[in-house]
Amino acid sequence: MSHFLNWRCINCGKEYELDEVHYLCTQCSKKWITGSPLIGVLEAIFDYQAIAREWEKKQNPRLFSVLDEQFYPPIPVGNTPLFKPDRLNKNLNLPNLFIKNDALNPSGSLKDRASELVVADAIRLGIDKIVCASTGNAASSLACICAAAGKEAIIFVPKSIPKGKLVQIKVHGAKLYTVSGTYDDAFNSALAYSANNDCLNRNTAFNPLTIEGKKTAGIEIYLQLNDVPDWIIIPVGDGVILSGIYKAFIDLKAAGIIDHLPKLLSVQAESSDAITAYWETGTYHNAHNPQTIADSISVKTPANAHWAVNALYQTQGKSVRVSDNEILSDQKYLAQMTGIFVEPSSAAVFSGLRKALTNKWIKPEEKIVMLSTGTGLKDINAIKL
Ligand SMILES: *Cc1c(COP(=O)(O)O)cnc(C)c1O
Ligand SMILES: [Zn+2]
Repeated sequence: MSHFLNWRCINCGKEYELDEVHYLCTQCSKKWITGSPLIGVLEAIFDYQAIAREWEKKQNPRLFSVLDEQFYPPIPVGNTPLFKPDRLNKNLNLPNLFIKNDALNPSGSLKDRASELVVADAIRLGIDKIVCASTGNAASSLACICAAAGKEAIIFVPKSIPKGKLVQIKVHGAKLYTVSGTYDDAFNSALAYSANNDCLNRNTAFNPLTIEGKKTAGIEIYLQLNDVPDWIIIPVGDGVILSGIYKAFIDLKAAGIIDHLPKLLSVQAESSDAITAYWETGTYHNAHNPQTIADSISVKTPANAHWAVNALYQTQGKSVRVSDNEILSDQKYLAQMTGIFVEPSSAAVFSGLRKALTNKWIKPEEKIVMLSTGTGLKDINAIKL
C-alpha cells in the first residue's frame, strides 16, 4: 500500500489528490510562459508516520513511492552499486569518496528511475501511450521501459541527439519525431502533443513522477552508506535529478529516519549554466547559447530551475561550471582510474569535484558521493582518445 497523501504545489502550496491533476498546479501553471522554467511543479507528500512504522520492520525504499508495487513495469530498475573507487581515492587522497553507478540501469542511465514510475502510472490508469521530450536519455529510457510494459513511447528529440541514443529509441520500437531546433523546442512539441492526444506526458518536472522516480537514487545512497553523506555531486541539466535527490533526504527527514541533509554540489557545463547563474545571483536568466559536448546537461531553460536552486540553498550546497575540455579529459581519467566509462555529463561530476576541492568547498576527508548518471557507450563520438 502506498503512503502517498497528496500533491502539493511548490509555489502556492495548494494540495491535490492523486488523480485530480497529473502535471502542474492548475492555478500557478496559468502564469507559466513558454521559454521560462516551469511554475507550479508538484511535490508528493506522504503519511510519514506510517512510513516510519513500516521502516522499523523493513527498510524498503518503495515505502516512499507514490504508486503501489503492483503497478511497476516488469523490468528491474535501480538498486545500482555504490562503491569506493580505491585507486582514484588513493591517488587523490580522498579516503571517503564513493561512486553510485547508475549507468547500470537497463537503458544505461539514471533516467530509468523516472520512466519506471511514469510507466507504472500508465499501467495503473490503463493509458497506452506515453510522450516525452528528451536530449536523448529520457527518450531511450522511456522506449526501453515501455517495451517491457507493452506501452507505446512517442519521442520528440532535437537533431543533435547522439547516435547511440537514437539507436536505442529505434531498437525498442518507439515512435520518433526529430525536431528541428533544440531540446527546449522538443519540450514544447511534446507538450503540444499531449494536449491534443490521449496519452501521458513524461516531460521532466512537468510530470511530477519524474522527480519522485529519480528520488529513489537518493534513498538508495542513504541505505547503502547507512549514513547521510557530506556531499552528493550531481550533473545538472533541467535540475530534476538534483531535486529528486533533495526530495529523498527531505522525505527521510520527515519520517524521522535522518536528522540533517547532505550538501548538494550541482555541476553544469559552462555554456549551459542557467541554474548556476541563478544560484549565484538569485535572479533567473536562460542560458545564452548551450553548446556542450555533454548533451544530457545541455539546456537553455531548465524546467525545474526554481526547485533546484531552492534545494541548493536549503542544503548549503554549491553550483559550479566546467568546460568541455575538462569534461573530456576527466572522462578518460575516470575510465582509466576507476574502470567506469561514463558519458560526458557524468564525467562533468568529477571535474566539478576537482573545482570544489580547489575552492575548499569540499574537504578531502569528507564523505562524498559522485553520481554516475549514464554510460559512455551512448555517445562514442564525444570521446577524445
Ligand atoms: C538527464 C541527465 C542528466 C541531467 O539531469 P536533469 O534532471 O536534467 O538535471 C545528467 N546526466 C545524464 C546521463 C542524464 O541523462
Ligand atoms: Zn500553485
